[in-house]
Amino acid sequence: MSKINENFLKLQDSYLFVTITEKVKEYQRKNPEKEVIKLGIGDITRPIPHAIANAMKKAVDEMLDTKTFRGYGPEVGYDFLKEKIIENDYKKLGIDFENFEIFISDGIGTDIGNIVDVFDIENKVAITDPVYPAYLDTNVMSGRSGTYSNGKYAGIEYLTVNAENKFIPQIPEEKIDMIYFCFPNNPTGTVISKEELKKWVDYAIENNSVILYDAAYEAYIQDEDIPHSIYEIEGAKKVAIEFKSYSKSAGFTGIRCGYTVVPKELLGYTEEGKEVSINKLWNRRQSTKSNGVSYITQRGAEAVYTEDAQKEIKENIKYYMDNAKTIKLGLEEIGFETFGGENAPYVWLKTPNGMKSWDFFDELLEKVGVVGTPGVGFGPSGEGYFRLTGFGTKENTERAIQKIKEYYS
Ligand SMILES: *Cc1c(COP(=O)(O)O)cnc(C)c1O
Repeated sequence: MSKINENFLKLQDSYLFVTITEKVKEYQRKNPEKEVIKLGIGDITRPIPHAIANAMKKAVDEMLDTKTFRGYGPEVGYDFLKEKIIENDYKKLGIDFENFEIFISDGIGTDIGNIVDVFDIENKVAITDPVYPAYLDTNVMSGRSGTYSNGKYAGIEYLTVNAENKFIPQIPEEKIDMIYFCFPNNPTGTVISKEELKKWVDYAIENNSVILYDAAYEAYIQDEDIPHSIYEIEGAKKVAIEFKSYSKSAGFTGIRCGYTVVPKELLGYTEEGKEVSINKLWNRRQSTKSNGVSYITQRGAEAVYTEDAQKEIKENIKYYMDNAKTIKLGLEEIGFETFGGENAPYVWLKTPNGMKSWDFFDELLEKVGVVGTPGVGFGPSGEGYFRLTGFGTKENTERAIQKIKEYYS
């Protein structure tokens, strides 16, 4: 009898994007003449920079020639890419790494999903609420969640982030072993200061915990004093794993490449309290269960660091951030309370008159013709909030905000 992993049965069906799609379809069927503008999208929409495309084309040509053809590469990535990462993403921040501390992958969705393999099932996990759903679901699948009731899993610590605590997770009473953070944040678009992040690094050092730090939106940071990497915080190498993706920065959501940093200083512990290098465990896991990312993709990722690509990347990020600004300022003009949108492409807003997230979704769709994402879809503490994104076109974003202004003012 092939018994299944019953943890999968504990997963809650994610109705969020399915329900949104159905509601929009239904509305369009009933109102074929009405325009619907989508500002709920969580995917980049602008094409990749030319320098990246050219590097990949060149790599394809190399594959045609016996002399330059490449077969299996190193499972955890080519040194040519790791060196560029260390030089550009870390050395410029005053942080040193060696190649073996960088692990290239087909995107951090994969790494976030797999990292749970190297940690004990009994570890107590904390996530923020609301949250990017992958941190929770991967822990449910691997058996760390306990049972589900009243919107929460019994075994997970939910760190509420809302307007009252300025979206800064507060250190809980209970001892936490694994802490998931995402800054700049999806869905709230908010950031954390070095001072606040240091409190958590100190907590992790004191409690031998690990911080799993998702920096997918690092490239969107505009304010100078916001940390680009958790390793800017003293002592973080001892307690943090950092996930960095080319998806939202360089347009790689379809190409697939990212990397995870596991510093040599980071230790885990056996039942008896013996210290073990997490880097070694992760290296073993990746070398066993993966044969790496294509050479062509890694040449494309290497080209991210060229001057030409950087110029286009910055233009694209500015485009999205200008949209976020249009959304934020437009909503504030009519008295909406907004958060984020300054160092991230996401604007998180409080629904008007204390409306429930889904009621506001319906009203916005039916009365205004604009689609966003209900905050409650990201966790119970997202109730009464709503997410709009800067990933649409400039024209659509401006028109959507104009319509919202007309309806709500
Ligand atoms: C998009 C996104 C990811 C996924 O990144 P990939 O590298 O494309 O797998 C991870 N974390 C957050 C918060 C994201 O928004």
